[in-house]
Amino acid sequence: MKILLNNSDLNEALYDVSNLGFVPTMGSLHKGHISLIKKSLKECEKTIVSIFVNPTQFNNKYDYKKYPKNIKKDLSILHKQKVNFVYLPKKEDVYYYKRKTPIKISKDNLILCAKFRKGHFEGVLDVMDRFTKIIKPQKIYMGEKDFQQLYLVKKYIYNKYKSKIISCKTVRNKNKFALSSRNILLNKTELLKAGNIAKDLISFKKKLSNKKNLKMILSNKKKELINLYKIKVDYLELRSISNLKSSNKLKNSKLFFAYYINKIRLIDNF
Ligand code: AMP
Repeated sequence: MKILLNNSDLNEALYDVSNLGFVPTMGSLHKGHISLIKKSLKECEKTIVSIFVNPTQFNNKYDYKKYPKNIKKDLSILHKQKVNFVYLPKKEDVYYYKRKTPIKISKDNLILCAKFRKGHFEGVLDVMDRFTKIIKPQKIYMGEKDFQQLYLVKKYIYNKYKSKIISCKTVRNKNKFALSSRNILLNKTELLKAGNIAKDLISFKKKLSNKKNLKMILSNKKKELINLYKIKVDYLELRSISNLKSSNKLKNSKLFFAYYINKIRLIDNF
């Protein structure tokens, strides 16, 4: 496994690689990340994993400061997985040029997390654009857990580069709770609560079929979740998986959910 600390290391290592899979991460790796890495290792000749906590996608200083870091453990996981390259850039390696026109999310796309985390996806698209330009991967592996991110990056990168975005299923723990680096910030009771919420919403979604008046049912469910679990909810919405437009049918739709346990913001979709 080669560790690439800057762009000249990277250019030297990748110059003759023609089938490269790229897994962008912010580190504090877990089984969700590993599932993306395994898929890339299986499908591509070489795999590169980046670890970079991208400052521009954080709309909240507390969240950025608290973002979990564990580089030693991450490197040992990546070594065990037999990843070919790990890219650990510094801010200057990624943001070495200023963009003439800033990336903007269109008004239609200011929904779900884009509505509640101003500037977040602009930061994500900016860093993904820079990474794709620097790394030039054939395939980029991303998780459905961050479905809106996957949707926006797919559209943006596909239009601009030849890299193909490969979507990977959400990995959950035995309590049905989606794995996330932020879970480390939750205590035992909070983790249990998050598991109960996930199980609650999975069974709620199963029972939704053939019901009329879905909007009203969802609005009531949102109130119930707030009262029952004492959580702050940003949204609970049913949207089409093909264009993320609001939907009142279950077919080809997903239930999108964002909420806080204490100060920790968590997202999931079912
Ligand atoms: P992050 O390090 O949180 O930026 O995530 C890096 C990549 O891993 C993103 O494409 C995420 O969607 C994906 N990912 C994070 N958690 C999971 C999970 N539980 N299951 C599958 N993919 C995940």
